[in-house]
Amino acid sequence: MKRIRTGALLLTAAALTLALAGCVNPNIKTSKDFGGSSPASSGAPAAESAAAPAAGSVENAAESAPASAVSPAEGSASSAAESALSGAASTISGAETASGHVRTEEVTSESVTLDPAWEYAANSKISSGAATLYYAPASIANGHVVCINAGHGTKGGSDVKTLCHPDGSPKVTGGTTGEGATEAIAVSTGIDMKDGTHEAEVTKRLALVVKDKLLAKGYDVLMIRETDDVQLDNVARTVIANNRADCHIALHYDGTDFDKGVFFMSVPSADVYRNMEPVKSHFEEHNRLGRTIVKALENAGFKLFEGGEMEMDLTQTSYSTVPSIDLEVGDSASDYSEATLNQLADGIAAGLDTFFAS
Ligand SMILES: [Zn+2]
Repeated sequence: MKRIRTGALLLTAAALTLALAGCVNPNIKTSKDFGGSSPASSGAPAAESAAAPAAGSVENAAESAPASAVSPAEGSASSAAESALSGAASTISGAETASGHVRTEEVTSESVTLDPAWEYAANSKISSGAATLYYAPASIANGHVVCINAGHGTKGGSDVKTLCHPDGSPKVTGGTTGEGATEAIAVSTGIDMKDGTHEAEVTKRLALVVKDKLLAKGYDVLMIRETDDVQLDNVARTVIANNRADCHIALHYDGTDFDKGVFFMSVPSADVYRNMEPVKSHFEEHNRLGRTIVKALENAGFKLFEGGEMEMDLTQTSYSTVPSIDLEVGDSASDYSEATLNQLADGIAAGLDTFFAS
């Protein structure tokens, strides 16, 4: 768990200036950087969506910020630092995260790449891309980091294979890759919705809505993919989440075509699987997260498919050391209008509130 160090920091003018240089409006910069390997047109929507929650969050934060959180930073800021604040909210209250990032009253962000020293990182085959970690405004931050992984969207991902399990053992269930296989497609292309729209496009849209909801609630959000392509395979996505988030939710639509409802891929009950690390130490938390989220989605008005869970041996779960699920929010026949995506995002956010409260 990552906890913020609460309370306003007394920053020197120099430190504040440095912090600002690193933090002010990085959203747009990183979004553009992030879209570097995809068509230029895909950078624009990401930048817009990154800017939108920042503006809204500043308003919310300003309304709810206690006066005491504001005054120390203002009092210690020199005129030079104050001039650096022009255009930003005048309420820069510092709160340093566990990773050393200094929060402001704006949504800030940083790029996160795969560190080759991280456990299991060596099993990744596609890892040149970057995720983006968004920090909630200081006055509403709750200290929890949620990884939202928009399923699919890795160009060339289906031409490469990675080990299904960290130890090279065979899969215990079927799925995209058959039972008994030791290697699986690094990132599959995903399904097409009934109208021909790619799953990767719809999961991206949903992820962006979820991001905004979570930031407004004070969660930090690690976004694996916000554009059409990110060069991170399923192993890399999982290892990044393991090291920079408190839980990991991958968003998917299933390949059937009868609007089957919502479910998550639960951890197979096979002993050999549940005795394999890191599954052994984490499977109960994976299942608790999944059950909590699908229950919240049911409460939000969605039907569940067969009780809301299906056992599946997935690369994601096989490498996860934080609570982690593949969430199937529907299938190729399911509605994905903006209203439905909002409803899904509200349910996911409510489920996360419940998960972290217990
Ligand atoms: Zn999928």
